[in-house]
Amino acid sequence: MPIASLPDLQTLLSGGKRRLALTLAAIESRRGSAEMVALLDAAAKAGKAHVLGLTGPPGVGKSTLTNALVRRARAEGQTIAVLAVDPSSRRTGGALLGDRARIQTDPEDKGVFVRSMAARDRLGGLSDDAIAAIVLLRAIYDRVIVETVGVGQSEADIDLVADTVVLCIQPASGDSLQFMKAGVMELPDIIVVTKADMTDAARRAAADVGGALSLAGHEGDWRVPVIRVSAASGDGLADFAAAMETHRLHLAGGERGARRRAEQEERWVREAIRIRFGTEGLRRAGPIRVAPPGPFASEAAVAARLTSS
Ligand code: GDP
Repeated sequence: MPIASLPDLQTLLSGGKRRLALTLAAIESRRGSAEMVALLDAAAKAGKAHVLGLTGPPGVGKSTLTNALVRRARAEGQTIAVLAVDPSSRRTGGALLGDRARIQTDPEDKGVFVRSMAARDRLGGLSDDAIAAIVLLRAIYDRVIVETVGVGQSEADIDLVADTVVLCIQPASGDSLQFMKAGVMELPDIIVVTKADMTDAARRAAADVGGALSLAGHEGDWRVPVIRVSAASGDGLADFAAAMETHRLHLAGGERGARRRAEQEERWVREAIRIRFGTEGLRRAGPIRVAPPGPFASEAAVAARLTSS
């Protein structure tokens, strides 16, 4: 049943997973409406959650790790939302991720919300609907995990919304070499070698990745940690949590986090305009700036200008 009228942010914050689910479903149908723009801009401003982007090839262990992180967050009394971006496109209707029941949560638990959404028509790509959904979720929950399937360059999209990008690599898979070739070594803030219970292979993979990182060099003042985690046994989870917290504090220092989010907002507008009006439209739009009340109103203003010209 479609939602009759959109709730405001305050109402959404007061709870109700059903109301939230209906609102998320309305993101597509009400895109660009004044109400939706106002809701999303209010949410963008109120974004309190640290957004963790988990990316890596299918089968690397992302869902298993997400399950472990959800349990950990709930044990710490934190609320958490998970958005799994399903790379099977809407058009082909495939299902690479398969059954989303792989993320197991207690339906009675009001502090967990899990949802999957279709990617746009390229593997690992984030649709602007997914971005809008994340904007809502991060205003409501303490933590947000976005899971995307990354193979080669396509995982770069996770950088549009994540505060901390975690690249998952499987032992004995040759992933490290592939990532180095694809030139995505600059992307992650943290690298996790999964299935660390496969001890020798995991150690070798961690060493390979460490070597690749030092060859690639790193930008800025953050040294990318490489952490071996077994979601199955729980080994390494505490180290991973500590690395995430260190990165969160790193962002909080010197306004890096605020700068990262401001840059992301500008990229959302550019991406949305490019998808709707093409590269030529983007060129005609000229320089894109995000002005109050926020990125969604800025996008609507640019779109209105392009449509009328
Ligand atoms: P995803 O496709 O990246 O979400 O991967 P899944 O989380 O579904 O995991 C793929 C397979 O790897 C499953 O069969 C899991 O049981 C297995 N797996 C995940 N984590 C671990 C781990 O820490 N150790 C081992 N040995 N297997 C794991």
